[in-house]
Amino acid sequence: MYDLHTHTILSDGEMLPTELIRRMAVLGYTTVAITDHSDTSNTGEIVASLAKIRESAKIFGVRLLCGVEITHVPPSQIADLAKYAKEQGADIVVVHGETTVEPVAPGTNLAACGCRHVNVLAHPGLITIEEARLAAKNGVALELTSRGGHNRTNGLVAQIAREAKCQIVVDSDAHAPHDLLSERAKYIVAKGAGLTDAQCKEVISLNIDQFLGL
Ligand SMILES: [Zn+2]
Ligand SMILES: [Zn+2]
Repeated sequence: MYDLHTHTILSDGEMLPTELIRRMAVLGYTTVAITDHSDTSNTGEIVASLAKIRESAKIFGVRLLCGVEITHVPPSQIADLAKYAKEQGADIVVVHGETTVEPVAPGTNLAACGCRHVNVLAHPGLITIEEARLAAKNGVALELTSRGGHNRTNGLVAQIAREAKCQIVVDSDAHAPHDLLSERAKYIVAKGAGLTDAQCKEVISLNIDQFLGL
């Protein structure tokens, strides 16, 4: 099991990075990305801090992916910041997409879908087919989320992603222990978005190393 979108006290989450990893290990996760909120003020610091718990994660049997979630950054700056995050050693870059419950700047989805340094567009709201086709071309996955509010458009995201032949991922966007998902809960998010059983299985058991090219 994987989760490519989680938060810790390095931004607005409640758990220490190591606590999150420990809880995920107990739930049976093998790959966990910690992707704290970042902008131009803190991207390098988050990646550097997360690198310090690689050994702890390994001891608990979890493959840690050090990452960031580029959040509320002007769309014209997203590509450069994503590139910078990778240069600083990030394994994964998530972009905080145009969720319908926050005033995310219009153009954020397009900027993320057009950037090959971005791996996941989180909660992309009312994403268009043109944006999704661009995402497919650049290897950017579109996210189905369990997070309240952000999850309102999961059905549309799944439909557009399939039409554009775009990779789909299911993440928790966890900020607290009760946000973490069991395998059954992940399945419900995927199935509830309209995926078939076979598609749910494929999405939930995605080979992350292959997807990220690690
Ligand atoms: Zn947050
Ligand atoms: Zn998030």
